[in-house]
Amino acid sequence: GSVRIDELLSEVIEHMRPVAEENGVMLHVEPSASTEVSGDADQLRRLFFNLLDNAIKYTPRGGRIVGRVEPSGGGILAIVSDTGIGIPHEHLPRVFERFYRVDQARTQDTGGAGLGLSICRAIAEAHGGQLRIESELGRGTRVLLSLPAARPQGGRTDGHHRAESELLPR
Ligand code: ATP
Ligand code: MG
Repeated sequence: GSVRIDELLSEVIEHMRPVAEENGVMLHVEPSASTEVSGDADQLRRLFFNLLDNAIKYTPRGGRIVGRVEPSGGGILAIVSDTGIGIPHEHLPRVFERFYRVDQARTQDTGGAGLGLSICRAIAEAHGGQLRIESELGRGTRVLLSLPAARPQGGRTDGHHRAESELLPR
C-alpha cells in the first residue's frame, strides 16, 4: 500500500519519546512535506523503531536525536542522527551484518543481539531502497534511508501504450 513516511516517522518518534526522556536524551522531529512511498507500513515502522532504539541506546544523557524526512528524486530520504558515542571507522562496514556488535566493552550496559541494523537493511532493500550509515567516534551517528518513488499502480491513464515489458507476466 501507500505509506506516508513523514507521518510514520513522527508516529514512531512519539512512541519512543518516553524512553528517550527516561534516558535524558532529547528527541526531535523536523517538520516535513508529505512524503509518500509504496511499501509495507509495519516493516517500515519496525525499521524506524530499530534506528531510534539504537540512537537512544548509544547516546549518553544530555544528547540529542533528530529525525527528518524529505522528498528526494521522486522518492524520499529519511535521516536519523544522534550525538552519541559513534562507531569507529573500521567497524562501519560491518554493523549491518547479523549478530555484529562493536566491541562488547563499550556496549556492555546496553543489551542487544546485533540484529537491528541487518533487519533495517533487509527492509530497505525489499523496498528497492538503500540504508547507509555515517559516524564519527565520540561525536555521533547518522543513518540515511532512501526509498524510491512509489511505483505506479494499475494501468496508465494518459493514453500512452504500455511498454512491452510491463505486459510480461511476473
Ligand atoms: P539489537 O538491535 O539486535 O537489539 P544491537 O543494537 O547491538 O542489537 P544493531 O542495531 O544491529 O545491533 O547495531 C549493531 C552495532 O552497531 C551495535 O551493537 C553498536 O555497536 C553499533 N551501533 C548501531 N547504531 C549505533 C548508533 N546510533 N550509535 C553508535 N553505535 C551504533
Ligand atoms: Mg539495535
